[in-house]
Amino acid sequence: MHVVKFGGSSCADAEQVSKIRQIVQDNPERTVVVVSAPGKRHAQDHKVTDMLYLAHQLFSIGMGGGEVFTAVGMRYAEIIEGLGLQFPLEAELEQIRDALSHGASEDYCASRGEYLCAKIVAEALNYRFVDAWDVIAFNEDRTLNYDETEKRCRERLTGERVVVPGFYGAMPDGEIVTFSRGGSDITGSVLAAALKADLYENWTDVSGFLATDPGIVQDPKTIDVITYDELHELSYMGAKVLHEDAVYPAHRAGVPIQIKNTNHPDAAGTRIVLKPEDDTPIVTGISGKKGFMAVEVTKRHGAGDTGFLRRLISVFEANDCGVEHIPSSIDTFSVLVREEPFRSKQKKILEEIDIFSEPDSIRVSDHIALLAVVGEGMADHPGVAARVFAALGREGISIKMILQGASELNIILCVDEKDFEPAVRALYREFFEEESK
Ligand code: ASP
Repeated sequence: MHVVKFGGSSCADAEQVSKIRQIVQDNPERTVVVVSAPGKRHAQDHKVTDMLYLAHQLFSIGMGGGEVFTAVGMRYAEIIEGLGLQFPLEAELEQIRDALSHGASEDYCASRGEYLCAKIVAEALNYRFVDAWDVIAFNEDRTLNYDETEKRCRERLTGERVVVPGFYGAMPDGEIVTFSRGGSDITGSVLAAALKADLYENWTDVSGFLATDPGIVQDPKTIDVITYDELHELSYMGAKVLHEDAVYPAHRAGVPIQIKNTNHPDAAGTRIVLKPEDDTPIVTGISGKKGFMAVEVTKRHGAGDTGFLRRLISVFEANDCGVEHIPSSIDTFSVLVREEPFRSKQKKILEEIDIFSEPDSIRVSDHIALLAVVGEGMADHPGVAARVFAALGREGISIKMILQGASELNIILCVDEKDFEPAVRALYREFFEEESK
């Protein structure tokens, strides 16, 4: 069986929900459906979840909120009418309005977007509605209680054709709690893991992960298959298609994830798998980010001084400034940090390094961009780094630093920010457009 999750754009109006109906009917294995709240119908539109947060805010400061809430109701009324469904919308809205005027929580209010959507989609599919409140269990500290959730899912969802709202669940005392924004992806992943689904399909409005940033390379290829580890590396720097916390539950249970496009259901999409497949390409994707700085600390025989690196790093830790990477030469450690928060704490950090590490010199460089060339196919494949360097060399791009871990999952390069886009384009050409050479 497949757990299928549809995002906000797939639930945005009656036309989109009818696509959901077609997709679910097309494959009888699609038995457990998870939905988000209706999202934007066009660029200027508002997500229902955003409207609900606003309504709650207005209610809570005694400024009404009724009009916003009416607008939310209209979104659902349009879907119900467009699909010709029988649904007691007024009674449902009345209950929510009543709860709000009696001080219902923000999470409760936000969760109603998914709750109503799931009830309506269940009606449209002729599936049973099961409230996430009954299956997704949170601990007192608002973290997911996975074991309890798994037990409830097995008891209540096995062998059923159901629609479950995404995004929220219940604490032991019954209070509603939501995941972070975009959290319906997590609900889908958790259900897929708990039910040991054969596949978790995540339906959205793009046809999968792109091999690089479409803002830099025109029409980059869609990645057919990506491993969880590659995804993690690429999404650390690049665009997000899936909520980060949605990967882990499915990954741990060994359930593959398929990203699909509701508007182009025939497009293959991207499959996220545990291990590289036999014909895995050398490079799966190229991502990167600007906005880094390097603090280059030089000390003669620093590498032989066992406490040196610890003292150096503890200064960054004490100042709550994350360290991204530390490439080094014999006597120089280059501590790579994000421009913010480093810049605002720079003076204090440099003074403390001077006191605690007693370096011979410190130099700060800015405007650094990181580029990651990612692919499990690189492992034990000689010549990949040579191709990376040659591609950049041909464009006259100088590489400031190089990082590669023992996993050989990626090669990370630092270049000047002004060279970032040309470098991404050169690497894309090398590995995706001239792959056959
Ligand atoms: N509706 C929620 C949000 O907008 C959760 C989701 O769409 O996944 O964040």
